[in-house]
Amino acid sequence: MTTTPAPSGPDFTRNDGLLPAIAQDLATGEVLMVAWMSAEAYAETVRTGRAVYYSRSRGKLWRKGEESGHAQTVRAIYIDCDADTILLKVEQVGAACHEGYRSCFFRQVTPEGLAVVAERLVDPASVYRQG
Ligand SMILES: [Zn+2]
Repeated sequence: MTTTPAPSGPDFTRNDGLLPAIAQDLATGEVLMVAWMSAEAYAETVRTGRAVYYSRSRGKLWRKGEESGHAQTVRAIYIDCDADTILLKVEQVGAACHEGYRSCFFRQVTPEGLAVVAERLVDPASVYRQG
């Protein structure tokens, strides 16, 4: 019989070091967004209590809200059974989605096509610098 030590956190040896991170509203349970975390992003999130992700398109850390002000305060961190998916329970300021919606999941797939099922909180053009 073998025993393995309980993992202390996510296993960043998996998935080329980038793990999906789900941000869920602490109060309502609404799924706000899904992004990627590197070990560095995770460590900074734990250290600061603010959600930090890894932007694959920019190839660098993405401190949620540093441009938009729409930061996420992390209240609890969970990992899944395989330790390769991270769940953050957060307090979201403003809109989680860069499109200006509270949740990135503002479109529902219906037989007639995509339906926008949420209200836009902010005009993205007013929040994000162009170019
Ligand atoms: Zn979004």
